[in-house]
Amino acid sequence: MTTFNTSLDFAHQLDSQDPLATYRDLFLITDPDIIYLDGNSLGRMPKAAAGRAKQIVNQEWGADLIRGWNKGWWEAPTRVGDKIGALIGAAPGQTLVSDTTSINLFKLATAALTLQPNRKRIITDTFNFPSDLYILQGIKNLLDAESPSPFQGEGRGEGQRNTPYEILRISSLDNDITPDLAALETAINEDTTLVTLSHVVFKSGYIYDMRRITDLAHSKGAIVLWDLCHAVGAIPIALDDCNADLAIGCTYKYLNGGPGSPAFLYVNKKIQEKLSSPIWGWWGQNKPFDFGLDYEPAAGASRFLAGTQPMLSLLTMETALEPTLQAGMDSIRAKSIVMTNYASFLTNAWLSPFGFSLGSPRDSALRGSHISIRHPDGYRINRALIEEMNVIPDFRAPDNLRLGFSSLYTSFNEIWQGFDRIKRVMEEKRYEKYPKQMLTVT
Ligand SMILES: *Cc1c(COP(=O)(O)O)cnc(C)c1O
Repeated sequence: MTTFNTSLDFAHQLDSQDPLATYRDLFLITDPDIIYLDGNSLGRMPKAAAGRAKQIVNQEWGADLIRGWNKGWWEAPTRVGDKIGALIGAAPGQTLVSDTTSINLFKLATAALTLQPNRKRIITDTFNFPSDLYILQGIKNLLDAESPSPFQGEGRGEGQRNTPYEILRISSLDNDITPDLAALETAINEDTTLVTLSHVVFKSGYIYDMRRITDLAHSKGAIVLWDLCHAVGAIPIALDDCNADLAIGCTYKYLNGGPGSPAFLYVNKKIQEKLSSPIWGWWGQNKPFDFGLDYEPAAGASRFLAGTQPMLSLLTMETALEPTLQAGMDSIRAKSIVMTNYASFLTNAWLSPFGFSLGSPRDSALRGSHISIRHPDGYRINRALIEEMNVIPDFRAPDNLRLGFSSLYTSFNEIWQGFDRIKRVMEEKRYEKYPKQMLTVT
């Protein structure tokens, strides 16, 4: 491992040795003084995406009009899905771009549950992304309804009360940094239908061992659904190789697809024909242009499409993927490890005297491409950084200042400057003038 020091020269030296340094030029950087450490929430804009967006609007929408559907729009969810598949270890035909992560979770989790209706345990963790927890609660609410559910057939006579689903949330060992893996192992039993976790945890950046947990779940007959939002574009993922069942993820974080760019879903070939989408739309129909009156699922993963997809943002996102595809996940990961190690080092050297602690695993093998640093005044420090210091991290309650590092455009100089400014906010107590009351979006 590199031996770090705190000098600015050293940061410049790391930049001069960075094989990905030239990728920064592919992104729009309007103000070089802004230290952007939030690419894990919204990636920077690849310059090529802006040119492509203009072309999509003027040529494809403006001039081609409805003919666009026969010029690459209709196939876009599968075409772009396969490109994302290359980043997540998925052979073609298993990954689709569609809807949002939240909606894809609803579709895939519901499909998984209805496959084994007599099993009632759903396992997740207490530090999963809240939308994931809410979606599971909504599914439980729907499937627990007293009258036999339209999604459940087997063994449920008229008037027979359903056994309710149990959503078990594994907690952490250490204040939301790493999960209690022994508890997870014990919890997965013969009644477990679904285990759903974020591959990289959104607050601490902890990486679950995909292979181990998938094997564990399979040994008890459960299905696993991985949320890849903070993993895709940040770490190499091997879905097929781990024999994963299902996955979802978004494209506006490390994949730089733009605000609200459509999400993706993955369904392993081995179970595609067994699963039924809970949303039977015409895009998931076998022959949509027959306009038949009754639904018949499309072959393969395409049955999980529901309706018309947002072409402007989907096609723009396709272009935005190019720097990631070109650089490859191994070189992205290699730089990312040096960046999060460097940031952990600077946290320890400069910020721990001010009461900061690392809210992420110390071992880079267990950590994605962001770290959380914790401070009781984290929220006010975050505001001072954004409003006075041109540093953009984000804040995640109760005390996490989250710093994201994107190998394609974050420089070591930027990391050094960012930490230097955090240190100054602390030395000059600049955060003290901000109220503890939070703004709507943190
Ligand atoms: C960002 C994120 C989401 C976002 O879901 P949307 O439907 O795009 O709002 C979901 N899950 C995780 C783990 C995330 O990090």
